[in-house]
Amino acid sequence: MTVITRFAPSPTGRLHVGNIRTALHNYLLAAQVREGKFLLRIDDTDLERSREEHVASIIADLDWLGLTPVATVRQSERFAIYEREFEKLRADGRVYACYETPEELDIQRKILLGRKLPPTYQRKPADAPVPVGVAPHWRFKLDHAAPIEWDDLVRGHQKFDPALISDPVIRRADNSWLYLLPSVIDDIDLAITNVLRGEDHVTNSAVQLQMFAALGAPPPKLAHTALLVAAEGKLSKRLGSSGVEDLKHAGIEPMALNSLLARLGTSQPVEAKATLTELAAGFDLATFGRAPAHFDLAEVEQLNMKLLHHLDFAAIADRLPPGMSEADWLLLRGNVDHLAELGDWLPVLDGNLPKPAIPAEDRDFLAQAATIAATLDWSTEPWAELAAALKAATGRKGKPLFLPLRLALTGRESGPEMAPLLKRIGRTRATARLTAAAA
Ligand code: GLU
Repeated sequence: MTVITRFAPSPTGRLHVGNIRTALHNYLLAAQVREGKFLLRIDDTDLERSREEHVASIIADLDWLGLTPVATVRQSERFAIYEREFEKLRADGRVYACYETPEELDIQRKILLGRKLPPTYQRKPADAPVPVGVAPHWRFKLDHAAPIEWDDLVRGHQKFDPALISDPVIRRADNSWLYLLPSVIDDIDLAITNVLRGEDHVTNSAVQLQMFAALGAPPPKLAHTALLVAAEGKLSKRLGSSGVEDLKHAGIEPMALNSLLARLGTSQPVEAKATLTELAAGFDLATFGRAPAHFDLAEVEQLNMKLLHHLDFAAIADRLPPGMSEADWLLLRGNVDHLAELGDWLPVLDGNLPKPAIPAEDRDFLAQAATIAATLDWSTEPWAELAAALKAATGRKGKPLFLPLRLALTGRESGPEMAPLLKRIGRTRATARLTAAAA
């Protein structure tokens, strides 16, 4: 059976971690089956609030994450289809014109609440007078005959009494579309098999299930995930606005973020995975819990580190500094928590290092090291030979033996394994560094 999913952002801002997570879930669900398709639907029916720059950034962000859709549709190009389906529903008596002002609706709500009744919209009798010269807005008429039920793939069995839900407004008086109906029309038209989104859409789903039925289409499978909250509380402004751009700047690898977001809120462990294929393999809606998922930037940092430390050359080659070889990457990867730090290591391999501060008691020792290094055969094991010769000549061992050498050769007290690093630095450069440090 095929799986077709969609991610449907409104282009009224940039993507943040919350909606990136929804996009990722939809991508992974589709990626699990051979013929699976992940679509991007731009929900730009609100022409005033939608911005082209946001459409562009959504597409670029998804691309950076590797969540490239097989197709992109824009609701603003589909108004004719909505019009056609709307007319059908109207002919069937499932949409109807309304004339209340916001103030009237407010009064109606207050009266009901005052009587301790649910503040749902009160339909007007069929013969109610129609005000002249007022353009109507339009509501979908919910069928109150039976409860609305579905088996949610995350939340389990769901049951709603439609009488407790207001008939939703689907079209404004200026004829513009609200979210609910176009979404259903598109889901039918694009043959979406699974709608997977945040639990803030649960009531929408109840209403939309009646719309699928009214349009004569079988509904997709539904799944609603618990919302994402920041570790410190609700998704803060900083995190809310922290999208791909900030994470990119912080040197976060897309797969570090994907690895966290794919498993957050599930009973599965969060592990750094290098590919979406690996993440898709373990993706399972049945493991999602009902409690809010806590997003912690520190966890992304951790994953980023783990990911880089084990990342194959092929997975990162196109983003390495020009000319960096596979051997160089393998040598350095264990020492970078962010890719940008590689730049700090390049001079250690190939460049001129500023002279490190060497304690006076190590200078003679390093002068001896320079003399020995100049005579060593670099094609064998220069580090082991250098250390053995210096140990024999000076009696030093352990830290007093190794630390001054590392400092003189790399300018730092820690870093990659010295044996391959020394080979890579080369005899000429190593000898020069030891000589300079001894001076
Ligand atoms: N544009 C809606 C939103 O961003 C889409 C919801 C849906 O997935 O149907 O909330």
